[in-house]
Amino acid sequence: MTIGILGGGQLGYMLALAGYPLDFHFRFLDPSPQAPVGRIATRVTADYTDFEALEKFAHGLALVTYEFENVPVEAARFLQKIVPVYPPPQALETAQDRRSEKALFQKLKIPTTEFAEVDSANDLENAVRKIGLPAVLKTCRLGYDGKGQWVLRTSEDVQRAKSEIPAAPLILEKFVEFSRELSILAARARSGETAFYPLVENHHRGGILRLSLAPAPHLTPELQREAEAAARRVLEALDYVGVLAIELFECDGKLLANEMAPRVHNSGHWSIEGAVTSQFENHLRAVAGLPLGDTRTLGYSAMLNLIGELPDPAEVLAISDAHLHVYGKSLRPGRKVGHVTLRADTQAQLAQRLGQLPPFFQREEFCLPPEVAKSAK
Ligand code: AMP
Repeated sequence: MTIGILGGGQLGYMLALAGYPLDFHFRFLDPSPQAPVGRIATRVTADYTDFEALEKFAHGLALVTYEFENVPVEAARFLQKIVPVYPPPQALETAQDRRSEKALFQKLKIPTTEFAEVDSANDLENAVRKIGLPAVLKTCRLGYDGKGQWVLRTSEDVQRAKSEIPAAPLILEKFVEFSRELSILAARARSGETAFYPLVENHHRGGILRLSLAPAPHLTPELQREAEAAARRVLEALDYVGVLAIELFECDGKLLANEMAPRVHNSGHWSIEGAVTSQFENHLRAVAGLPLGDTRTLGYSAMLNLIGELPDPAEVLAISDAHLHVYGKSLRPGRKVGHVTLRADTQAQLAQRLGQLPPFFQREEFCLPPEVAKSAK
């Protein structure tokens, strides 16, 4: 079976690596001739809106899925006339716009951050009156890794934002004093079967994910149940097929949904070594109409993102149960170029292994817990 994937970045790369043992073949479409999947699979270089290229791309495919959430929804709908497309284009459309995402959370009674719509610089004052400061102004579309966002703390920030904001729909969100950021990864098969990974704790710097701890420390069964119930409602409402990620804020022991991604997710990379079945394999099983795999964790994992630079591989691999993933992208500041997962049987052993990481990782931006960073010195 040949699976077509829209987008040829690292998520696609890891999907293909998970799919080869299951005898899947892959064909990718990406506008960039440098897309990393070119190293390991057939890659078609074309714009997502080149319908002639899409038609040729779809020829002979069993199904199409995506690894990039900003694929124009017209491309997914066009392909759907030729070949099954999973997750449903409606999920893509909902997740691409913060307002429709919020509307879905509200319809499904999933608590989400309070917000107001902003369509122009003039609306901003009204929105600030309604929401208060501090607040976060976000473009509704095409924001990622903290891009298209302004944190407004003072009336000067509001005045500055008025002259900077694009002529595009935005939302103003209340600034949430969360105790931590979490995410849940869920999978739904074509049969309707569902599976959930444990909540993961995520640490960001400069809007980019730096560290994920799986399962989230101090995870209670109540919190896990609350997250699963929310994810299940989204999966069912969208008749979803594939892996879905929901990013959440934990506030006073309760969860607030921030946003969702209709695809495999950076906060699930740990599952390659840290779960019985990885998010990548489960996404492929789901879209291919196969039973889902076991999502149980294998001990404790920490995933560290490599942003713009790579460590000495020998120093990482000298640590027991350390796993290095390099995506084959050119090194540029702010770019995700690889990740490292450390796995261990106990939390204490994981802390010890994190402490063995070379000085490269002992910088503040890697977000290592203070006791670990200290022990490494
Ligand atoms: P997002 O693009 O919505 O995932 O936002 C990127 C990051 O900005 C999040 O992971 C949070 O660390 C932070 N952030 C986003 N929205 C809020 C908010 N309403 N209050 C506080 N921090 C936020």
